Amino acid sequence: MTIIYWMLLRKKMKLLKSKMISIPEIPASFMETGSDNPHALWTCCEFCGVVLHKRALKGFFGICPYCNFHHQLTSDERIAFLLDKNTWYPLNELISPRDPLKFKDQKSYTRRIGIAQTYTGITDAVQTGTGFLNKQPVALGVMDFNFMGGSMGSVVGEKLTRLIEYATKKRLYLVIICTSGGARMQEGVLSLMQMAKISAALHIYQNIAKLLYISICTSPTTGGITASFAMLGNIILAEPRALIGFAGRRVIALTLREELPRGFQTSEYLLKYGHIDAVISRIFLKEALSEIFELFSKTIYKKYDFINEDKFKQIIMNYNNNDYGVFQYYRKKIKNNNVNKKLLLNKNTIYNSKKRKK
Ligand SMILES: [Zn+2]
Repeated sequence: MTIIYWMLLRKKMKLLKSKMISIPEIPASFMETGSDNPHALWTCCEFCGVVLHKRALKGFFGICPYCNFHHQLTSDERIAFLLDKNTWYPLNELISPRDPLKFKDQKSYTRRIGIAQTYTGITDAVQTGTGFLNKQPVALGVMDFNFMGGSMGSVVGEKLTRLIEYATKKRLYLVIICTSGGARMQEGVLSLMQMAKISAALHIYQNIAKLLYISICTSPTTGGITASFAMLGNIILAEPRALIGFAGRRVIALTLREELPRGFQTSEYLLKYGHIDAVISRIFLKEALSEIFELFSKTIYKKYDFINEDKFKQIIMNYNNNDYGVFQYYRKKIKNNNVNKKLLLNKNTIYNSKKRKK
């Protein structure tokens, strides 16, 4: 019950007692709590239960001012606070899901997709595109929990893979904000295959093109997302008190038949045991990302601009034939450019020792 609804109820009771003839109708929008109804003015903090004005909460990045709990944001809100103004350029916006299995539970899958699309205004549970983050170009993928629990179907997999491939070709930093309940059961094995597809694209991006991928885990990041790209980041960040895990807490407790520790599957717990690199509040996230980019831009790999289409294919061919293809390429580069050899010394010595053995 919202505050306004409570006040209107009191007013109605008073009017009833005073024998007035016409009693004002309570608008339907006040009947539900803020989280269910998009028109409601008030909402409750999910953690401490304090009643908060929705607009004030949005003005403060969706963070509760009393207990610092980070509420869920839509993908549009996340893009707006993370990127510079008017720099967002969406990619592959029109890819829409199909129903290959003709899946039907209480509602048919196509009907569920239709409802989610009209409710959120996006075609599937992820938005991908490019933009500027503190004047640095970045490829950004943002998942949306409001679209069928942020579940990963074939469209989410395809859009993210295309984004990663685009970022590899254009040599952009890659940031993916993860929030999901896992793979989409309505697409069966097709949704599970996306995990391998995205991971393969990330392997080329990270290990062959030597570029930087940062994954940001928000609440909740569970299931197939945690099992693939959420935990593959070169740097893995998380929001405070975010729920991050593979299976649910109850399932694990029943399987192990043990009581799980306090704070299990929260970002602070994972940080303590080394699963993630840092827990960063939403307010400082943009600054933190641009600082990481700046640090990375000074590292060695940035200096060799070796990605153009033909050379890239050649490198991948070399990589397939010989594990040291990338290092060979660096050796040629070093000979040609007379750049700082000391920085690459370790990798060259590894290469030479392997070659001698052959
Ligand atoms: Zn709170």
